[in-house]
Amino acid sequence: MSDQYPIEKIRSDFPILGQTNRGKPLAYLDNAASSQKPQRVIDSISKYYESTNSNVHRGVYQLAEEAENHYRMAREYIADWFSVSADELIFTRGTTESLNLVANSFGKTQLGEGDRVIVSEMEHHANIVPWQLVCKTVGAQITVVPVLPDGSLDRQVLSSLLKEPGSRILSLCQVSNTLGTQNPLSEIIQEAKLNDVRIVVDGAQSAPHQRINLRELGCDFFAFSGHKVFGPMGIGVLFGQKELLQEMPPFLGGGDMIDQVSFEGTTFASPPQRFEAGTPNVAGAIGLAEAFRYLSEIDLKLASRHEKQLLALSREGFQGIEGFIEHGTTSGKAALLSFSIDGIHPHDLSTLLDSEGIAIRTGHHCCQPLMQKLGVEATARASFALYNTLEEAERLVSAVRKAVSVLR
Ligand code: PLP
Repeated sequence: MSDQYPIEKIRSDFPILGQTNRGKPLAYLDNAASSQKPQRVIDSISKYYESTNSNVHRGVYQLAEEAENHYRMAREYIADWFSVSADELIFTRGTTESLNLVANSFGKTQLGEGDRVIVSEMEHHANIVPWQLVCKTVGAQITVVPVLPDGSLDRQVLSSLLKEPGSRILSLCQVSNTLGTQNPLSEIIQEAKLNDVRIVVDGAQSAPHQRINLRELGCDFFAFSGHKVFGPMGIGVLFGQKELLQEMPPFLGGGDMIDQVSFEGTTFASPPQRFEAGTPNVAGAIGLAEAFRYLSEIDLKLASRHEKQLLALSREGFQGIEGFIEHGTTSGKAALLSFSIDGIHPHDLSTLLDSEGIAIRTGHHCCQPLMQKLGVEATARASFALYNTLEEAERLVSAVRKAVSVLR
């Protein structure tokens, strides 16, 4: 399959991939943390600052109109990519801010004493802490769906929680950043709807690998970060169903989100402006739209098959390493491999891999509750993207094997 996949062309689009790391060719395998940027995304940002930069929503001169147009077109392009309308798409700083927005605006007004927000044990802190803060304020509780030994969700527990009176919101990742588990979202959303439970999706790890039709998926909210989808840092998106956004109060107050301001009281703009207080990250939005334009020229199904091939090759290569434990073994898991090796600290492993030019992530991956469940403090994680090669997967395997022989 990889024979048909234009890997060399794709790699040549990403300038950073030609660099060395500690004097060796860089093998960047930390894509779940942040992905690299194609030249055209970098160029779109420089071009904006070189020729269009001005504040939006305010000026009546040419530059301001051009900046406004670019910002509007970026929103429209991204909304179209996800099959939603532009007024349902709010620009934020990233997944974390998007989830805080939902929790504080939607959550705070919908939840009351004794109500329940359901999350899972595999969630990133960004999908736990905002709910904890809001639940504490309104007297609601968080209920947690356990993860089974293979890394899948305990669907039985989820089903019974969805039926419990007081269950109001389910907030769930589409793909786990630590286990690679792909949650069967369509089924879960249908089940949540039957029980009148609103569903918030953390799409940080799914958006970079597949084209998602949010209209078909049917969730109420969907959050993701630009920097993981080959776009810039500091920009992200929250999608919300129009009828819900219209009823939601602002999250942050300030310029650009108002209708009329007086000391007696203030009225607010319609969504999405109501949720975008202050000067927005115009260059970030333009860069993010360019990242999706780039992805539109790539066969993402082929890319996903290619990434899965790298995952399979690494898993096979690690077989037989004494004390090797893979965390998350569900079939069809995303192309990331989280693992521990008995007696070897992940940080030591990562340091040795770094000396071979290989960048992986080690730590708790912002999933401390999941680490407690797995009984570890940290794991090592290699995560693949559309530009990684079979050779890089092979280098990962041999570098890990070499590190094990040095560290034992
Ligand atoms: N959710 C998941 C599943 C993630 O993997 C991440 C980042 O690693 C986040 C949320 C937070 O994303 P950001 O730091 O871009 O806000």
